[in-house]
Amino acid sequence: MSLTYEKLIDKYEPVLGLEVHVELGTKSKMFCGCSTVFGAEPNTQTCPVCLGLPGALPVVNAKAIEYTIAIGLALNCSIAPFSRFARKNYFYPDMPKNFQTSQYDEPICFGGYLDVKVDTDEGVKEFRIEIERVHMEEDTGKSLHMGGATGRIHGADYSLLDYNRAGIPLVEIVTKPVAGTGKYAPEVARAYVSELRDILRSLGVSDVKMEQGSLRCDANVSLRLIGAEKLGTRSETKNVNSLRSVERAVRSEMLRHAALLEKGERVIQETRHFHEDTGDTTPGRSKEQAEDYRYFPEPDLVPVAPAKDWIEKIRATLPEKPSARRTRLQESWQVPDKEMAAMINADVLDQVEQTVNLGADPTRARSWWLGEIARIANERELPASSLPITPNDVAEVVALIGKGELTDKLARQVVEGVINGEGRPREIIEKRGIKVVSDDSALMAAIVNSIKAQPEVAEKVRGGHIPAAGALIGAVMKETKGQADAAKVRELLLKHLGQA
Ligand code: ADP
Ligand code: MG
Ligand code: ZN
Repeated sequence: MSLTYEKLIDKYEPVLGLEVHVELGTKSKMFCGCSTVFGAEPNTQTCPVCLGLPGALPVVNAKAIEYTIAIGLALNCSIAPFSRFARKNYFYPDMPKNFQTSQYDEPICFGGYLDVKVDTDEGVKEFRIEIERVHMEEDTGKSLHMGGATGRIHGADYSLLDYNRAGIPLVEIVTKPVAGTGKYAPEVARAYVSELRDILRSLGVSDVKMEQGSLRCDANVSLRLIGAEKLGTRSETKNVNSLRSVERAVRSEMLRHAALLEKGERVIQETRHFHEDTGDTTPGRSKEQAEDYRYFPEPDLVPVAPAKDWIEKIRATLPEKPSARRTRLQESWQVPDKEMAAMINADVLDQVEQTVNLGADPTRARSWWLGEIARIANERELPASSLPITPNDVAEVVALIGKGELTDKLARQVVEGVINGEGRPREIIEKRGIKVVSDDSALMAAIVNSIKAQPEVAEKVRGGHIPAAGALIGAVMKETKGQADAAKVRELLLKHLGQA
């Protein structure tokens, strides 16, 4: 018997565990001087250290440590006065040393938290997510499986290896088990990754592009009977690569676990893969047996012992917290909670802020980014920020409306044109010949026509029945193909019929 989501929530409590990997935006790799630029020709950014050649000696990238400490501080963590790197031993073709240099029982940052807000039908709720640890490690290379239909290793003819990514500094941020989110577990998971991404972006430590893999989330989920103490068995959905997918993957796993438990079956502890197209997960690697990675302290690297005053210097230069920034913007724009949440959810806060900074009225700026632009973004299943329209364009459109050179309706055509790549607003206005008909004589000609066509309606208006004017205004707007300013038409019409 599978349960509906509502029934599941009555019976079980979901527990989350979120592991986020973020590639740091340092110029060079974690333990060598190779470049980290994305998209270079395969195997052009390698050296004896990141290829794991015998005798090559690694040196820690100080910038990577500074970034990691900044992340830890922003997440309210303690910073270890002394921590060591460890070798995590296993074989994989994209990891030429046969071990990953990581941290094990001595992470550089530990014991923090992050508060996240979720917009629910019961209002905006806040949840505290406890952070277990923030540690440093290095990324692996990339395997490309060729010749198969799916790009996966199964069914492939051969594999290619690109070591450009091997050794790029990676920070892993791991939560404690997160309980108490109830039915909002999927939304909390999403809000956490979103908030974390905003923090990392504000710190300038990573370009946090989920679609390019510079920020990746593994979502652990388990269920336990409500009231039970002991945690259920978790599954770990790997490398979920968008905020929306984080939410969908958690929900899908909750439903899958519940269906198993209701049948009296057990959940297998394993990794899983999420599929965007079906919204389902499929099994990956079993984790029933704890793997023994034979961790041991890395003998080639000195321990990390950041000086107190260095830590304090990093703390003193932390930027404004995204949550504080949101509060500040909300107050200055005078927006209700719901609208604020809508902007955050649509990820257009930056765009709205920049549009306002370019002189647009906050209400206008917001209504474009949340209205027409969000609608088109939704239709195309893309984030609004990836459409080819900029805050500059929107500020210009708002200004043109203000000057009476565009009506709302015409402005929508211009915005659509910009999004379709036809050019900047001015060019589109010129190319499409868009202009507001504000010339009184042209409007009067259309008004006279509308009265001729509907004389009985005009009589009503003359007799004082003002609402009837709507039909005439509509006819004028139609004749001028929406290029007339409706308020102006109304004014002229009522005057003409002796009502103003
Ligand atoms: P692994 O190496 O298997 O990925 P980690 O300890 O790095 O293990 O990460 C496991 C994540 O899952 C952590 O965030 C942890 O808090 C969380 N977690 C552990 N047990 C459970 C459980 N039973 N249910 C949900 N989450 C869990
Ligand atoms: Mg993991
Ligand atoms: Zn290198």
